[in-house]
Amino acid sequence: MNRSRVFRAAACISAAAFLFCSASCSGGVTADDPTQNAVSTQIAQQTAATEYDALWDDFAGPNDSSTTEPAWFTQAAAPFAAAELAPLTPSAQPGEPVQTTVPVSQSAPVPTVPASSTTVPTTTETTTAPHIHSYHTTASDATCTDRGFILKSCECGDRQFEYTSDALGHDFGEYTVSKEATPTETGEKVRVCLRCGLQENEVIPKVRPYISKESALEMLQLINQDRAQSGAQPLTFNETYYAAAVVRAHEIGENYSHTRPNGQPWHTVFAEQGPEYIGVYGENIYNPYGDSVSPADGEIAFMNSAGHRKNILNPNYKSASICVLYTENRTYFVQLFFG
Ligand SMILES: [Zn+2]
Ligand SMILES: [Zn+2]
Repeated sequence: MNRSRVFRAAACISAAAFLFCSASCSGGVTADDPTQNAVSTQIAQQTAATEYDALWDDFAGPNDSSTTEPAWFTQAAAPFAAAELAPLTPSAQPGEPVQTTVPVSQSAPVPTVPASSTTVPTTTETTTAPHIHSYHTTASDATCTDRGFILKSCECGDRQFEYTSDALGHDFGEYTVSKEATPTETGEKVRVCLRCGLQENEVIPKVRPYISKESALEMLQLINQDRAQSGAQPLTFNETYYAAAVVRAHEIGENYSHTRPNGQPWHTVFAEQGPEYIGVYGENIYNPYGDSVSPADGEIAFMNSAGHRKNILNPNYKSASICVLYTENRTYFVQLFFG
């Protein structure tokens, strides 16, 4: 018998009919035969006739031309042996492009081959059904740092990408002080983006301007260390004219000179800020860049300058008024000496 013909006919009627027949006309078939049951079940699950043929090959082996079908198989297929052979249609997955190969008619005119050409024109041509894109859309709104976009992609691989808006930029709230600044330590303030939560910290500069009596006393100690090395007696801190030293520290910010901003000599500050002073006196001034130049660095700079060094080591002096003034960008040192 033509097994392939029976198979295809059965497939065209229905897999369910095949199974029903197999169960009711089984003759010598034993329902407990696991191989038969498995094959019958597989047949019922197939939808394309070509796959039935493949199924038989799986069951009987690839070289089955001389193989006799088992009785249960023959009986199951018998009712459909005379059925019309339905045309086979190529299986196609939904959405999958269907390709059809069309043979060129033999009666079609044969293209003329140029004498110089060795290329033989193809005898078949391929046509592809037009594909209509079906896009899946992904969109993202703009964020603080990223642009908004829309992305459309088709399962065929076609993709369309487009920016739809600029990044928004952060929307920071007001700064909140997390650590107060002091004259000796910087502070810190924080702000948070109201949209994305990004946190920004900023340093708060030390409190300025700041006059440090502590730095003044430290500088006096350094002066006395330098004097001791040269055999001069230590100086006491002259509180009487400390106010005069403070005034001079501010004045050298206006006019870096031993002449006061009002044009008078520097020592006229004595009578202005305290009792008139009779005796020998001297003044050292220094205004380096930096909001926190140390007294030690100030003293080293003075000692490296001959005229200032001479004042510091002058054995005739008995006391000194010192002012250290820290501003946002400079430190002012004033040393007033009294004999
Ligand atoms: Zn597409
Ligand atoms: Zn943000």
